[in-house]
Amino acid sequence: MKVLSFGSMNIDYVYSVPHIIQPGETLSSTNRSIFIGGKGLNQSIAMARAGLDVYHAGKIGSDGTVLLDALKDAGVHTDNVKIEDALSGHTIIQVNDEGQNSIILFKGTNYMMTEEFIDEVLSGFEKGDTLVLQNEINLLDKIIDKAYDSGMTIVLNPSPFEEKLLGYNLEKVSIFMINEIEGNQISGISAENPEGILDWFSSHYPESEVILTLGAEGAWFSGKQGRFFQPAFKVKAVDTTSAGDTFSGYFIAGKAMGYTVEDALRLAAKASSITVSRPGAAPSIPFIKEVV
Ligand code: ADP
Repeated sequence: MKVLSFGSMNIDYVYSVPHIIQPGETLSSTNRSIFIGGKGLNQSIAMARAGLDVYHAGKIGSDGTVLLDALKDAGVHTDNVKIEDALSGHTIIQVNDEGQNSIILFKGTNYMMTEEFIDEVLSGFEKGDTLVLQNEINLLDKIIDKAYDSGMTIVLNPSPFEEKLLGYNLEKVSIFMINEIEGNQISGISAENPEGILDWFSSHYPESEVILTLGAEGAWFSGKQGRFFQPAFKVKAVDTTSAGDTFSGYFIAGKAMGYTVEDALRLAAKASSITVSRPGAAPSIPFIKEVV
């Protein structure tokens, strides 16, 4: 099985500042760091580290070599990463002394998908392959419809949530990967009522499976096989960035290795407990040999 990760890639420019800048103010930063990110890229790296055969599709600008290199280093196939004469998706992030941040997002090449590009990418995949998506690229609705027509298994993390997602043909999604905030935004059910959120999905998308992660508490699975709760492993968390991407990557890998749902959930929880115990986003995601 091939896994296609059609998704965003971002360069994060992080500036340390004494306080978040005010209107009209000029402020010197004390440090600048550059990180690679974007949910799509993080998902690809997580799945590659989990041992899957991952193909990333998306667009970068000529400033995006760092993104391409990160994917290649992780063993992700990058033939479907196109370079445009434009700027890559990036963020300008201020972080103050208290650790609060403010973020400007420039969508850049992440919003340059076209139907022709989607068709070209999907022509390399077939029935039984898996497509993994988030909501940080344009034409997501078209990608879902076309991949469904090719018989691909579609996994969607509907993040960041936007109302217009509810107008897409989400019944074509095989697995929703959500946290309690996204679960609340989609269903309107309180984040304090995870089983209510699962009930909402069962009635609106009866053919789909849902994984609902609840941070340090654990994660729920709901689908035709039933409902299972997987508690989180107890660890000292230092940075929870990429926990959700690790969980979904390892769950998909577990299923691809023929694990039962319960065993795949346990594998995913173990991998994400390692991610949260280390600093950083994609670099903190463990390799499969550290998990099994
Ligand atoms: P997201 O990053 O999408 O919000 P969550 O924070 O819900 O995802 O975390 C996903 C999974 O990562 C959880 O279900 C759990 O298995 C694991 N996890 C998250 N936070 C912790 C923690 N503090 N300790 C142990 N495991 C954690």
